[in-house]
Amino acid sequence: MIIHMEIRSLLVLVFGIFLAATAQVAPAMPVAIVNAGFEDVTGQTLFNEFTFGTPVGWSLHGPNSVIEDVGTFTGTLQSNGVDFFHVTAPEGDKVSILFNSGREGEGEYGYEQTLTNTLQANFIYELSVEVGNIASGTAQNNQFFNLDEFPGYRVELLAGGVVIAEDDNALTIPEGEFSTSTVSFSTSASHAQLGQNLGIRLVNLNVIPAGFTQATSPDLEVDFDDVRLAATVIPEPSLPSDLTNNGFVDFEDLTILLANWNKEVTASEGNLVNADTTPVNFEDLTVLLADWTGPAPAGSPQAALGAQAVPEPSGLVLLAMALAGLLGRAGGRQCLRSRR
Ligand code: CA
Repeated sequence: MIIHMEIRSLLVLVFGIFLAATAQVAPAMPVAIVNAGFEDVTGQTLFNEFTFGTPVGWSLHGPNSVIEDVGTFTGTLQSNGVDFFHVTAPEGDKVSILFNSGREGEGEYGYEQTLTNTLQANFIYELSVEVGNIASGTAQNNQFFNLDEFPGYRVELLAGGVVIAEDDNALTIPEGEFSTSTVSFSTSASHAQLGQNLGIRLVNLNVIPAGFTQATSPDLEVDFDDVRLAATVIPEPSLPSDLTNNGFVDFEDLTILLANWNKEVTASEGNLVNADTTPVNFEDLTVLLADWTGPAPAGSPQAALGAQAVPEPSGLVLLAMALAGLLGRAGGRQCLRSRR
């Protein structure tokens, strides 16, 4: 029996060391997007309230070659305190622009970005983007732009280059204002694009407004800002060892169990077996370790978040607790020594 306890104590120690080296999973899971608010204008040409060029972190979506033409501008507009918008920039003081004059109606174009994170099983993804319907106005160089009407927009969530969800111009955006486009998508245990890189595409549909021709059309522009992608694990209720309900039996669950060691607590606090008769003990630990899924998979939002975290104190606390558990079992230690 003593030897049996000894092995389990060693098991705790080994897992403590292993888990101390892993990153802690945080509950909030924003997916990293480069230059999500279009404030980084490195490499662009400054022109009064505009910058011209391709925004850092984004590439051009140009299936119709509209975007390469003279009179077509990508870049940013510093929208605070100038004409064109009745409201401030949704994020920071710049918004991205997709403008063209002369290529109206010749097909869509836009921005796209492939993310580091990959599509994971059993996640809910929610993409939110501020979409702007720019109004007519006079630029700081006194040039007037007729920007009445709206050419339409599309916001896409992709995985492996395949569109998995989109908002195809569903919003009616008031002139001179922004509205929030939201695109949601859930994965189950299987999906053709699992493990492939997520992506975002922001499109100006470039459709000539009703009643106009290309010759009479106002200039056509769609603006985007404050791109956000949140991912949430769909909990698996079949795992009672998932004490934090984040979809994984991991480091945090083990921490809870060990924090309640030898205490008469409930199953949701780590007393997984015989909660009515015994405190948290090795039987509970054995169940949790048997259910062990490990931390979030590489490429998931949780993994990315954990990688940014500083060496977490709770990992060291866990290790210390495992050691304390060993030291507290003097009989086990002596038995270990006598066998050497
Ligand atoms: Ca911004």
